[in-house]
Amino acid sequence: MCASCNGETANGQANGTSSNGTNGTNGHDGFSAIRTSQNPHPSHKAPYAPVGDFLSNVSRFKIIESTLREGEQFANAYFDLEAKIKIARALDEFGVDYIELTSPAASEQSRRDCEAICKLGLKAKILTHVRCHLDDAKIAVETGVDGLDVVIGTSSYLREHSHGKDMTYIKNTALEVIEFVKSKGKEIRFSSEDSFRSDLVDLLSIYSAVDKVGVHRVGIADTVGCASPRQVYDLVRTLRGVVSCDIETHFHNDSGCAIANAYCALEAGATHIDTSVLGIGERNGITPLGGLMARMIVADRDYVLSKYNIKKLKEVEDLVADLVEVNVPFNNYITGFCAFTHKAGIHAKAILNNPSTYEIIDPKDFGMSRYVHFASRLTGWNAIKSRAEQLGLKMSDAQYKECTAKIKAIADVRKIALDDTDSIIRTYHHNLHSEEEKPLLPGLTAEEEKKFLEAEKELNGLKEKRQLDAAADAEAEIPDAKKTKTVTVA
Ligand SMILES: [Zn+2]
Repeated sequence: MCASCNGETANGQANGTSSNGTNGTNGHDGFSAIRTSQNPHPSHKAPYAPVGDFLSNVSRFKIIESTLREGEQFANAYFDLEAKIKIARALDEFGVDYIELTSPAASEQSRRDCEAICKLGLKAKILTHVRCHLDDAKIAVETGVDGLDVVIGTSSYLREHSHGKDMTYIKNTALEVIEFVKSKGKEIRFSSEDSFRSDLVDLLSIYSAVDKVGVHRVGIADTVGCASPRQVYDLVRTLRGVVSCDIETHFHNDSGCAIANAYCALEAGATHIDTSVLGIGERNGITPLGGLMARMIVADRDYVLSKYNIKKLKEVEDLVADLVEVNVPFNNYITGFCAFTHKAGIHAKAILNNPSTYEIIDPKDFGMSRYVHFASRLTGWNAIKSRAEQLGLKMSDAQYKECTAKIKAIADVRKIALDDTDSIIRTYHHNLHSEEEKPLLPGLTAEEEKKFLEAEKELNGLKEKRQLDAAADAEAEIPDAKKTKTVTVA
C-alpha cells in the first residue's frame, strides 16, 4: 500500500469531500454520466454517452450472482456451509437479484448446503445450476430453490468431446426438463454452453423451441472467454429477435472482455448478467460484481443507487478474498488501493478544485475515499499547499512553491513516504521562522545529501534563470501572448 493511502487522515480528502465542497451526496458537480431510470435514454449529457437504443437494458438489468456456483470452481475456493451462508447473506444485503448455487447433484453436501441456504429466507431468489438432465432436475426441485439454471454444451467441441449428444437429443431433453421444472412451479432458464463456438442455426433453433414452451430465460455463455463485445452485440441482438423470454448472459474473462461483453449484451437486449465477487471462477473467472457496478454506475447512476447497496461492495469483496485466500488486486475496480488516488501534479490540482475533472465515478457512492498523493517528484505545489493547510501551516504561495521544489529535489534523490513529506513541510515552515536551520530530512546518507544539494543548486539556478528571463521580457515589453506564440513556433 502506498504511504498516502493508509487512512482517511492521510490527506483529509476522505469520502469524496473535496476541498471546495463540490462533491456532496449527489455526486460530482458536472458529473457527466446519463441519469435516467428508463429506456430509451432521454438525455445525452456526455459526448461518450451510450447511443439510445430501444433494445437496451442498461437501465433495467438484473444480476445473477454466481460466487457460490462459478466461484466454487475457482482454484482456491473451498466453501463450507458456514462460509456459504456468510457469502449468501452478504450478497443479499448488497441486493443482488439472484444467488446461484452449485448443483445439488454434485455431492450430498452440496445438496444439504442448497437446502440450508433456501431456508435462510433471503430477499434474493435462489437458483441452482444443473445439467440439462431430468435426474438432476428432480434432485434440484426438491431443495426448495426458486429456480433452476439448466445448461448443456452445444458447440461441436463439447458435443464431440464432452457429452457426445446431437442437437435433436439436446432439444428433446431440454423440452422434457423444462416441462418438468415448470410443472413444479419453479423458474427455469435454459442455456447453451460455449455459445460463441456453436452453430448459429443450431442455437437459434433450440432457443426458439424452448421459448415456445415457456422457458423463463435463455442463456448465452462465453464459456471459454473468446467473444468480443461486437460479437456479443450481434448474437444477443439476433437472439432478441427470435425469443420473447428474458436473456441471461455469462462471460468468462480469458481475453479481458468480461465486463465489456456484459455491457454490450445489455445494450443489445440481454436482461440478466452473471457475476461473481472479484470475478472468481473457472480459470481466471467471469464478470466481476464490482467491475460491473463500476461500468453500470457510469451508465445509469440512479438505477444502480436505487437498486444495489453498493457501499457494501468492499465488505463483500473482503469477505470472499479472505475465504479464498487472495488479496484484492491493486488495480481492482472501485476497491483497489489506487482506484481513487491522484498523483501527478496537474491531476492533483484539478482534483482539489473539482473531482469530476479526473474521476468519472464518485468514490463516496461506494463508501470509498479519494486520495491525493503528494509524496513524490510528480507532486505539484497545489497539493503541497493543501497538505500544509491540513497540517495547520500557513505560508505564502511563493513559499509553498519553494517547499514543493525541495520536496521534488529530495524525491529525485530517494523514494519518500508520506511521513517524510510531512516532516519536510514542517521543517521548511520551522526554518522560515527560526534562526537555526534544521536539515529538511534527517537521516540522508552522505551520498544522498550530496545529490540533494546538487539538485537544489540546479533548482536555484533554474529559478534565477526564470527571474532573469522575466526581467528581460519585462524590459523588452513583449506581450505574454506573443511570447507563447514565439515559443510554440520555435
Ligand atoms: Zn462459467
